[in-house]
Amino acid sequence: MILIVLGAPGAGKGTQALMLSEQYHILHISTGDIFRSNIKQGTPLGVKAKEYIDAGKLVPDDLTLSLIMDRLRQPDCAGGYILDGFPRTIPQALGLAEELKADGDELTAVLDIEVPDEAIVARMGGRRVCPVCGESFHVVNRPPKKEGVCDHCGSALITRADDAPETVQKRLAVYHEQTQPLIAYYREQGKLLSFDGTASMQEVFENISEALERVNGSCDQK
Ligand code: AMP
Repeated sequence: MILIVLGAPGAGKGTQALMLSEQYHILHISTGDIFRSNIKQGTPLGVKAKEYIDAGKLVPDDLTLSLIMDRLRQPDCAGGYILDGFPRTIPQALGLAEELKADGDELTAVLDIEVPDEAIVARMGGRRVCPVCGESFHVVNRPPKKEGVCDHCGSALITRADDAPETVQKRLAVYHEQTQPLIAYYREQGKLLSFDGTASMQEVFENISEALERVNGSCDQK
């Protein structure tokens, strides 16, 4: 199974991708997580990516594509994966399509999680993340058991630099301009499944799971 999760920053892509990767036993590949781990380790890729990420811009396509292509060629991807935060531009989608074709793989579905901008802005202000294990929380919607502390590893939670209100507005503008065209691109290919991302985390997950059962069912009958 090869899945893509599309949606504005803060739409809940990461949370859904994680739950789906557990449900279907497939790898969860998040370009944002890969960039953040490179930044933390101070790699050359991390140093280059940081200036774009902190400014709310997209990391250039050539850098992102070479990073993800290397990842998809690792043997652990053979059992299927879910891409979270990639592709984010049409050139990235074309690069991915070429790679899949070369490997004889087919995209199962593209999950589009729809959330209006106003709701995104409200959500991102309350987002807190663990700088150590990457777990994500929200002061209202998904509070940690102990305020400011990661449930998973006990580290102090932080607000991501790119979740600052001005940067969120910038990221939303970038999303509408560069990523939203992917919705029409994948719809034309008959791959798009859209979901109301304002529903609860569990409801969105159930809706996605049901839709995927239907897709899998129709694949089995072929
Ligand atoms: P995310 O955690 O998915 O919101 O990603 C955080 C940031 O990493 C984004 O705002 C971008 O600056 C960068 N990034 C993640 N994925 C991509 C991508 N596919 N193309 C370009 N930049 C990306």
